[in-house]
Amino acid sequence: MPNTPQYFFLASFVLTFSLLFFIQSQVSKFLASKDIKLVNLLLLGLPKDPQHPEMGSHSIQDFVKNLSQEDAIALVQTPAFLASAGLVAVTVIYLALFTGKRKPVLNPSEWREFPLALKSQISPNTAVYRFSLPNKNDTLGLPIGQHIQVSAEIGGKVIMRSYTPTTLDGFDKGHFDLLIKTYEQGNISRHFSLLKVGDRIRVKGPKGAFVYTNKLTGHLGMIAGGTGITPMYQIIRSSVWDASDATTINLIYANVNEEDILLRDELEHLHHNSAGRFNIFYVLNNPPAGWKGGVGFVTKEQVAHYMPSQEKDCKILMCGPPPMMNAMKKHLEELKYPAPRTVSKLADQVFLF
Ligand SMILES: Cc1cc2nc3c(=O)[nH]c(=O)nc-3n(C[C@H](O)[C@H](O)[C@H](O)COP(=O)(O)OP(=O)(O)OC[C@H]3O[C@@H](n4cnc5c(N)ncnc54)[C@H](O)[C@@H]3O)c2cc1C
Repeated sequence: MPNTPQYFFLASFVLTFSLLFFIQSQVSKFLASKDIKLVNLLLLGLPKDPQHPEMGSHSIQDFVKNLSQEDAIALVQTPAFLASAGLVAVTVIYLALFTGKRKPVLNPSEWREFPLALKSQISPNTAVYRFSLPNKNDTLGLPIGQHIQVSAEIGGKVIMRSYTPTTLDGFDKGHFDLLIKTYEQGNISRHFSLLKVGDRIRVKGPKGAFVYTNKLTGHLGMIAGGTGITPMYQIIRSSVWDASDATTINLIYANVNEEDILLRDELEHLHHNSAGRFNIFYVLNNPPAGWKGGVGFVTKEQVAHYMPSQEKDCKILMCGPPPMMNAMKKHLEELKYPAPRTVSKLADQVFLF
């Protein structure tokens, strides 16, 4: 079944050809009324053929000289000329507004400022912060899997931290969202919690060595803790909604309490729409009664069961609090996965954000 953009393309194709046909017939009619042969117009600028004097002048100057002022005015007022002028104007405006290359919003070596548009508290210590981009059709320009750096001056010192937006260029225009957990003793996360609508943050990017594409690998295993879900969510969202992506994704997502599970509805929605490609296993330190997921810390057996085998065409991505990441590195090592480097590279089988 053709989709909406395909119908749109077909309609614009038919419309453009009908309009061109209409314009051509109107121009021919007008020229015929002025006794001008279309073929002579087509030959304008070419050397004159002495064997065919009936074909008239080929000189542009002669043609313009022979065209009276009344003829020129009449030509400009024809429906064909007005329709062509209108078509050209609409095309130019469309290209300028919608397809014109805007300056990238982000710059990897220059700080840019963005105002807070909206703050939605989603748990006592976590909120989604929405920042406006300069124009409503702008996108952040962040490759899938990469992050931004945020800086602020706190207590006379410039502090920088990394954050992965939950928005994606292909889906979200005019803004970007950051999901941030505030730590009482934290610097930047606390700075976010004190922002008011209209306050600006300083951002640099894109940053990071991981860029997701649908041909990267056949199987992705993900192990996330707390806000470490944000880079995973970006990748899962992009993969599930991409019909040409066949990657299978298994996520182990660990939290302290059930209410700490971030983006749960969104993750469940993606799972239900993935045709079995994306599956989640939750682990809680303090599970409620009747909990069906994992209990306590993520175990080696759970990693072995839910992560793709290291012999497969696979990658393991990890993001979470350092103590959890150290424990996961140990599990993976015992399961014979290669150890992640101190700073991971895209080619690595085990990538630590
Ligand atoms: C690639 C990448 C992407 C990230 N994306 C996100 C994101 O989307 N959302 C998000 O909220 N964070 C994200 N982080 C984490 C973020 O960069 C900060 O580390 C976090 O917000 C804490 O920074 P801070 O300045 O508030 O605290 P810091 O100044 O770094 O720490 C001060 C104190 O805060 C407390 N604290 C800080 N971090 C933790 C922690 N993990 N667990 C327990 N206590 C802690 C401790 O008491 C610590 O001593 C990401 C990190 C990376 C590397």
